Amino acid sequence: MIKGKVQTVLGAVEPSELGLTLPHEHVIVDMTLGACSAHSLVNITESVRRAAAFPDAGLEPGEAGPGIAASWAKKWNQPICLENRADVERHWFYYGNYKINDLDDVIHEAKLFKRHGGGCLVDQTSIGLARDPKGLQQVSREAGLHIVMATSWYTHEYHNEEVKTFDIGQLRDRILRDLEVGVANGVRAGIIGEVGLNWPMHPDEEKVLRASIQAQKLTGAPLSVHTGFGPDAYWRVVKIIEEEGGDLSRTIMCHVEHRLPTRSAPDSFDPAPFIELARTGVYMELDCFGWEGSYRQRGKVDMPNDAVRLNYLTALADAGFESKLLISHDIALQHWQRKHGGHGWQHIPETVTQLMRYKGFDAKLIERILYTNPQEMLTIK
Ligand SMILES: [Zn+2]
Repeated sequence: MIKGKVQTVLGAVEPSELGLTLPHEHVIVDMTLGACSAHSLVNITESVRRAAAFPDAGLEPGEAGPGIAASWAKKWNQPICLENRADVERHWFYYGNYKINDLDDVIHEAKLFKRHGGGCLVDQTSIGLARDPKGLQQVSREAGLHIVMATSWYTHEYHNEEVKTFDIGQLRDRILRDLEVGVANGVRAGIIGEVGLNWPMHPDEEKVLRASIQAQKLTGAPLSVHTGFGPDAYWRVVKIIEEEGGDLSRTIMCHVEHRLPTRSAPDSFDPAPFIELARTGVYMELDCFGWEGSYRQRGKVDMPNDAVRLNYLTALADAGFESKLLISHDIALQHWQRKHGGHGWQHIPETVTQLMRYKGFDAKLIERILYTNPQEMLTIK
């Protein structure tokens, strides 16, 4: 990999060329595992297990059995329309819309982002989530945006046979190949992640994490980690990085705004756990801007809204961590696209920046979060 540059799907570029960067999006993704109904996902994904475990948090409280299954069957793959839009927002899980694979839609969204000042999208679609190197190149060319592709693997439900049978060294070498040689005739990854973990961590997930840390050390590429829900989920990752001699300052902790608070105060929106984790030197990524439910579907987690996300950022900046803050939308659901009534990639440049100014962020801090920090994070060291 070329030190000092950012590796995009169209080649290495100077970090300063990126412009406004969203470090955690899914340009093209399929989280449904090709399922044709929610039935076939039961006991497969974390979300579905959660649905079974906490029926009270669901669409039809108290109907843990066939009642729910029957309603799933009706909603699955329903096109999003004005009449069901609010329902989809709250209960997207039932609609099977957690895939983004229509390239025309993606190019439309990418052009809107560009029109609102966007410069670069990081596609955190890891192997097994329908990563599409050629598709990313096409979107990059047609929308005139930089796109960075990811490597490594998501949670074990999405692992293929290769991941199950490979040892850590073989997995590391596969990641190195993606970074240094490329896939689909030389499209190279520029970030390792998002590495998907459950809590407790599945043994194969730990294997992938260790292989990813080793590849990070060898290449200087950034490492991005999605943890499960649990009081110690992030801290277990920190410990494994330390065991492997990895670089915490090159590590991004994803989704902290709704996964980290489970440590001590699930519903207090207390910034203390954030400051505690930031002290390890990692990037703190608040990457679900625009998602404003009152609870996380299928999980007993109170969801922060954008204002609370900004409060966390303020607390972290005040504590001296302004150079380690990243924000994004993690758009992986069709109804979050503009075309389907969602906030789209333009939400941060168009709306969140206004809210930042209203809440007293100075221009320097906004520039840091939207430009400088993601540039530094993506630069191969
Ligand atoms: Zn994630």
